[in-house]
Amino acid sequence: MNKAPSVLLLEHHLKALKLPTFLRDYASVGAGCSQERADYPTYLFRLAERELIDRERRATERRIKAAQFPVLKTIETFDFAAQPSLNEPLVRELLRGEYVGKKENVLLVGNPGTGKTHLATALGYAACTQGKRVRFTTTTGLVTQLLEHRDERTLQRCHKQLERMDLILLDELGYVPFSKAGAELLFDVISRAYERTSLIVTTNLPFEQWTEVLGSERLTGALLDRLTHRVHILEANGPSYRLTDAKRRLKRK
Ligand code: ADP
Ligand code: MG
Repeated sequence: MNKAPSVLLLEHHLKALKLPTFLRDYASVGAGCSQERADYPTYLFRLAERELIDRERRATERRIKAAQFPVLKTIETFDFAAQPSLNEPLVRELLRGEYVGKKENVLLVGNPGTGKTHLATALGYAACTQGKRVRFTTTTGLVTQLLEHRDERTLQRCHKQLERMDLILLDELGYVPFSKAGAELLFDVISRAYERTSLIVTTNLPFEQWTEVLGSERLTGALLDRLTHRVHILEANGPSYRLTDAKRRLKRK
C-alpha cells in the first residue's frame, strides 16, 4: 500500500529533525493509544519519553566506546568477599560519581591481580552512565603517545583532547620506568588535570617507590603533591584474584 503524502512528509520531517525513535514508534504507539483512548498529549508524551530514553542510551554507549576500556568490567561482577581489605563503602560512594564533579582523584594501590584495573574500569563505566566523558589508558601507553605527539609537534592538540575529558584513568603506573622526557610529559598531564579533570591512577607501587619509575625526586614530589591534594585512596592488599582463581580451577580438575 502506498503511503499517504502526509505520512511521507511526516517521516521525512522526523528524519530531518533527527527523531529516530519517533519515526520507528509513532505508528505502534499511536495504535496503542487509540485502543486505550489516550488523548493527544499522552500520545506525544509517550513518544517523547521513548526518544529521550533512546537518546540517552545512545549517548552513554558512545561515551563507553570513546573511553576505550580494555575489557568492559562493572561492579556487578566484582566480588568484594575476595578482597576483604578493600574499603567497600568508599568504592560504593565513588561509584556515585560526586568526586568527578569535585575534580577529585582516586588512587588504587595494590599488588598485581587484586582487581585494580577491574575497579578503575567499573568506576569509569559508572561515570560514563552519569554523562561524564571518560578516557582509559595505560600510563605507559599515554607516555608513548605523548612522546609521539611531541615528535610530531602535535602535543597541544593531544592536551586539548585530554582537557575535554571529565575523568582520565591512568592504569598501571609502576611496571615500566619512564625516560626523563616521558616522566616530564606525564607530569605535564597530571599538572594540567589538577583541579580541572579527575584522575584515577592504579599502581602497584607505594609512594616511596614512585621515584624509581619517574626518575627525579623533585618531579615525583611535585607530581604527588598535585595528584594527592584531593584524593581518595583505595588499597587492595589481598591475594591475587588471578592466582586464587587459577588454583581453584586446578583443584577442580
Ligand atoms: P590488577 O589490575 O590489580 O592487576 P585486575 O583488575 O586486572 O587486577 O584483575 C585480574 C583479573 O581478576 C581480572 O579478570 C579481574 O576481572 C579479576 N578480578 C580481580 N579481582 C576480582 C574480584 N574481587 N572479583 C571479581 N573479579 C576479580
Ligand atoms: Mg591492572
